[in-house]
Amino acid sequence: LPDPGYRGRFAPSPTGPLHFGSLVAAIGSYLDAKHHHGIWLVRMEDLDVPRCAAGAADDILRTLAAFGMHSDEAVLYQSRRTAAYEDALRKLQSCGAAYPCCCTRKEIADSALNGIEGHVYPGTCRNGIPSGREERAWRVRTDNQAIEFDDALQGHITQHLELDIGDFVVKRADGLFAYQLAVVADDAFQNITHIVRGADLLASTPRQIHLQRLLGLPEPRYMHLPVAVNEAGEKLSKQTLAAPVDASAPLATMLQVLEFLQQQPPAELSRTDVSTALEWAILNWDASRLRGIRTLPL
Ligand code: GLU
Repeated sequence: LPDPGYRGRFAPSPTGPLHFGSLVAAIGSYLDAKHHHGIWLVRMEDLDVPRCAAGAADDILRTLAAFGMHSDEAVLYQSRRTAAYEDALRKLQSCGAAYPCCCTRKEIADSALNGIEGHVYPGTCRNGIPSGREERAWRVRTDNQAIEFDDALQGHITQHLELDIGDFVVKRADGLFAYQLAVVADDAFQNITHIVRGADLLASTPRQIHLQRLLGLPEPRYMHLPVAVNEAGEKLSKQTLAAPVDASAPLATMLQVLEFLQQQPPAELSRTDVSTALEWAILNWDASRLRGIRTLPL
């Protein structure tokens, strides 16, 4: 019987087919959940409608199925969760944690310093929008109290949000809710206890913890897996033209992912099938082999 104390998830953005990098996050999160007899869910982060590709969500689900992975509960689609995000924003507004912002990208670029992820918002609208200007986005206030957490692989992580990131957007100028807000609302809604994902999201985690605290939500445990990089050291992604996963020959790809995740699959597995390989990997999953590794060349 599954252990209700472990609820994990894979949360792809359906902007295109799965590529090796996203398959690593899918398989890593699945193995960690199943090794602990936990629940594993798929959530489609199709919030950024303009970036979503037609048919990509179904294509991702078909590819996961070809590898033997199925969501244990109905797939949640962020595009149907707007009311929940409105609610979360209202809570942030009513406690004064969120404020409207009129700044354009260019205005910010012209006046901001660089932080961990691009420009640090200089706080222009913190105490109100200048008269004559219109509200565009909603931001959440940050401070310089250290946000700390222990990542299962990456160790002790500390960020000072105001200095490193700045007040960040929770509702965008185009009216869409930001990833940071949606992910926090949904992880809580789905009672996610363990988040296993790529280390490219490590720098987002303190923002998510900040929002969890403001909204009074529980803090899940985090494990950030190494991300696959190409020869130039760039993360595999649609932008770097990573090839889609070939779902018609899943065993070879599965073994490649297990090699990437340092699981040392025995050679005999290549003469079996993908479900045998997956069973072997669940039983033998040892995440500690990835300790401290943030990127790995493919
Ligand atoms: N949808 C995000 C992505 O594909 C991942 C979100 C998460 O795992 O928290 O990069």
